[in-house]
This record gives sequence, C-alpha cells and structure tokens, in this order.
Amino acid sequence: MINDNTMQETLLCRPLEDQRIQCLICRRRCKIAPGETGHCKTRRHINDKLYSLIYGRVSSMRISPIEIKPFFHYYPGSRWLSMGSLGCNFLCPGCQNWEIAHADVEKGLPSTKYVSPGEAVERALEGGCKGISWTYNEPTLWFEYTLDSARLAKENGLLTNYVTNGYITQEALDLIGPYLDAYRVDVKGFSRRTYQRIAHIPEFQGILDNIVRGKEKWGMHIEIVTNLTLGWNDNEDDLRNAARWIVEHFGSETPWHITRFYPHLKLAHLSPTPVSKLESTRRIGMDEGLKHVYLGNVPGHAAENTHCPGCGELLIERYSYEILQYHLKGNKCTYCGHQIAGSFEP
Ligand code: SF4
Repeated sequence: MINDNTMQETLLCRPLEDQRIQCLICRRRCKIAPGETGHCKTRRHINDKLYSLIYGRVSSMRISPIEIKPFFHYYPGSRWLSMGSLGCNFLCPGCQNWEIAHADVEKGLPSTKYVSPGEAVERALEGGCKGISWTYNEPTLWFEYTLDSARLAKENGLLTNYVTNGYITQEALDLIGPYLDAYRVDVKGFSRRTYQRIAHIPEFQGILDNIVRGKEKWGMHIEIVTNLTLGWNDNEDDLRNAARWIVEHFGSETPWHITRFYPHLKLAHLSPTPVSKLESTRRIGMDEGLKHVYLGNVPGHAAENTHCPGCGELLIERYSYEILQYHLKGNKCTYCGHQIAGSFEP
C-alpha cells in the first residue's frame, strides 16, 4: 500500500473525453484510464485525478563530487547532495541502476524513505554542498518533488542539476527551467532505430530540441553523455552526427563524455566496450571539432583529463572522480589565459 504522504497531484495533465487523463510530464504522454498507472508506474489515475506516487520518496541520497554525474566543466571538485527515487520511463536493457530504475513502484516503496524538500535543502547546506543533483533514476518521474526542491534550493543559494535521459516534455522543462542550472543529458544514440531498440520510444528529436531549449531559453550548463555499447549505439555515422550536432548547437568546448558500457541486466552477456573503440569514438568527436571529449569508466586513462584548447597544457588531471592537479584561475588557463567554457570557482 502506498503511503498517502507520498502522493501529490500531477502538475501537468489534462482530462480526456473518454475518462482517461493524459500525463504531460514526459514525452510518452500516457493516456491513463481510471485505476491504472502510466508506463513508468509512478503515476496513477485515482478518482478523476492523476497522482505522482513517489513525491519525496528517496531510494538513494549521498554527498558526492560532481565528477560522478559526470559534469567536468561545472564547478570541478564541488560536492553535491545527490538524490534519486524509483522508476524510469525508458527501462533500457543494459541499465546500470536497474535495481532502482526498474523497480515496480506498484508493489510498494519498501526501500525508500520520505525526505521533504526542506530537509533536502538543509542536508545540502549542512554538508557544504554546491547544490542538489537529481540523479540515479530519471528525475522527470518525481518532477513535482524536484520542482519544489529546486525552488527552495535556489532561495537558499544552492545550485541545481538534472542527470536525465532528456525525455521531459517542453511544458515540464519550461516549468522547472527557471530553477535548474545544469543539465547532464544522455544522448543514447543518434538514430530513431537506436532509440527504438534501447528505449522503446518512437522519436528522439524532442530530446535534442529540449537540450537546445535548456541552453538557449533557460541558460543551463549542458554536458552530454553517450554510454557506448557494441552493437547497440556504435555506428560511426551516427556518432559523427552526434558530435556535429553538439558543436553546432552548444559549441566546440562542450564536454562530450563517452562512457564505457559494463554488462548489466538483459545485456549481461555482452563484453565491456573495448577501450580501443572508446578511443576511436573520441577521435571522431575531436575530428568534428570538439575540444573536450572525455572517456568515462576507464580510471587512469589520459582522456579523463582537461587540456587547454589554446595552448594544449594540462589544466585538470583526474583519476576517476578525483582531481589530482588543477591549473585554472577562474575559467582561465593559468599558462596562456584562454577562457574555458563552463562554470568554475573564481
Ligand atoms: S511521467 Fe510516467 S505516466 Fe507520465 S507520461 Fe511519462 S511515463 Fe507516462
């Protein structure tokens, strides 16, 4: 049985003539009959209203460095209160967070506890955090909670970010846009076929459009992640098109993180992505003009580091989530003064 404290009316929905209610939080735009839940199982139609079932229900909460998200050009080394709930609107076959993302909320919320927006903000302030990050599962699913928390966070001088698959509706993005500072989005591939196979969605253009909107209308800091999986999203033409799209819309200094797939869940039979494949993908990105193509899940690889696009010097040396060397003053290279795109401590 769901605890009533966790239920909040869905902020964006509309009644349909046939008694169903359409949810307008993510681009699935589920049409939900009385008593039923949407695709993500986290929203239920009860007595002519649509409710989020996971408001404030936290499955994971810890203070972690921003590099884990990963964000590499957004206050490197800063600490963030990182929070996740349960469920997902994609259910990718190789999900690395499947224990929480693939959880069936209809069966209950035994592994969660309620944390109010006020408690989350307090915890972030007490922990010396730069802000709050909604991560681990798709943040759009507990949209109402992240919106309330983001408003409160901003009132208290904290920053905010989403670690997301980007399948939010434009309506929802525009509601939270004024309170969301940074947007780390998975671009899982660059073709309809790839998105159909991985996420079972008919189109991905809306994801791309909303990332552009996040940047242009709401001024969000953008970083892109592609978890490279052999046979699923490693087509070279698609990767080249993804890199071109990043350069065209966000500029050549936008970080693109190519992360190594490790086998999980329905893709447990696959091998981890070979490092040589990650490296060749990185070359594609750099050939297309990107200055910062990082490799993830390969601790100790030189492509974890940031080099100055102006003079080529090492600016930030990393080992996994740790910073070993730092040679920036504000956003300027200490060697040649080149201004690095992103947000850095003064
Ligand atoms: S948030 Fe859930 S219920 Fe709403 S449209 Fe997306 S999948 Fe459907």
